[in-house]
Amino acid sequence: MSLRDLAPEYVRAIAPYQPGKPIGELAREMGLNPDDIVKLASNENPLGISPKAKAALEREIAELARYPDGNGFDLKAAVAKKYNVGMDQIVLGNGSNDILELVSHAFLTSADAAVYSQYSFAVYALATQAVGATRIEVPAVEYGHDLAAMRAAITPNTKVVWIANPNNPTGTLARPGDLVEFLESCPAHVLVVLDEAYTEYLAPEKRPDTLGWLKRFPNIIVVRTFSKAYGLAGLRVGFALTSPEVADILNRVRQPFNVNSLAQAAASAALDDVAFLEESRRVNDAGMKQLTDAFVRLGLPFIPSYGNFVTFHCGDAAALNQFLLKRGVIVRPIAGYGMPDSLRVSIGTEAENARFIAALEEALQD
Ligand SMILES: *Cc1c(COP(=O)(O)O)cnc(C)c1O
Repeated sequence: MSLRDLAPEYVRAIAPYQPGKPIGELAREMGLNPDDIVKLASNENPLGISPKAKAALEREIAELARYPDGNGFDLKAAVAKKYNVGMDQIVLGNGSNDILELVSHAFLTSADAAVYSQYSFAVYALATQAVGATRIEVPAVEYGHDLAAMRAAITPNTKVVWIANPNNPTGTLARPGDLVEFLESCPAHVLVVLDEAYTEYLAPEKRPDTLGWLKRFPNIIVVRTFSKAYGLAGLRVGFALTSPEVADILNRVRQPFNVNSLAQAAASAALDDVAFLEESRRVNDAGMKQLTDAFVRLGLPFIPSYGNFVTFHCGDAAALNQFLLKRGVIVRPIAGYGMPDSLRVSIGTEAENARFIAALEEALQD
C-alpha cells in the first residue's frame, strides 16, 4: 500500500494550482540578473504598495511578538465604514483564496455540487474538488460566463455557484442586468459567490452594485482582495461581504488567526489610500492601451479585458513563452485553462510593458 492511498481519490486527483513563475526562479534557471527580469504573470500591482500601507507596516513590526486580533476588529471597522455594511457581514481571509476555501469547507460535501464557467478562475475547481464535491463546468460564451446556461446547470444538490467578475484569465465582464436576472432566477438553496478581485480597476460607472444587491439577495457572497489594485499580494488578505447568517457560518470554519497582524494593519491603511488606488487605475488604463495597441499593430488577436491583464492569441504559446523567458520577460501560460494558443500578460509600468512588447516583436520576426 502506498501512503498516497490514504488520501481520498478526489484529493489524489487534484492538479495543483500553477502560479506565475517567481523572478528568483527564472534568474536561477537562466542565469539572469533578477533586476533585469520583468514579471507580468500574476496580475500584481506594478506600483508596489501604497505609502500609507508601508507606514502602517513599519509601525506594526514592534507588535509582532503578539498574536493578531483574531476578530480583525480594526480592519473590519474600516471595511464596514467604507462599504456601509455591518461588522457581522464581513469575513476576513488569508487572501481571497482563503475565502473561497472557507465557502467550500463550510457548505460543500461530497454529496453536493458547485457550478462554474469554462475559462473561469482555477481555484473554483480546486476548492470544489478539495472537499469531494461534484464540479459542474459550463461552456463559456465568447470567453465569458453564460449565465443562462449556468442557471440551467444548477441541480437540486448544487449549493454554490462561482462567478468571477471581471473574470480571470479572460478579463470578461458580465452585464449587471444579466447578473440580477441570474440572481432572481436562482433557487434559494444556492449560494452565489461574486468574486470581484479586479473591481477597483473598473471605471466607477462600470462597477456592478453588488453591495446594494446584498439587501435583496442574502445568498450572495461578494469577495474582494487586497492583492490586486491595493498592491498587497505578498501579505495575503481579502474579505467577503455577505449576509450575517452566511458570515457566521464562514467564521466557524476559519482558522482563529487566519489574517496576520501585518496584513491587517496594511490593509486598513490601504483602504483609505484613495490617491494610490486612483493612480493604480490610471496606470492600468494607460498600460492596457499600450499593450492592446501593440497587439493590433502586430496582428495578434486579444480578448478585450476589464482587469489588469489581457489574454492574447499567438499560436504556439508554449514556444513564445520560452522565447520571452529567455529575454527575462515572465508572462502566464494558460494551457491549464484549456487555452494552449494564448498567453495572459499583466499590465505593468510603461517601461515594463515596453520590454514585453519589444521581446514580442523580436519573437514574431524570428
Ligand atoms: C487573483 C485572484 C484572486 C485571489 O487573490 P488573493 O491573492 O488570494 O486574494 C481571487 N479571484 C480571482 C478571480 C483572482 O484573479
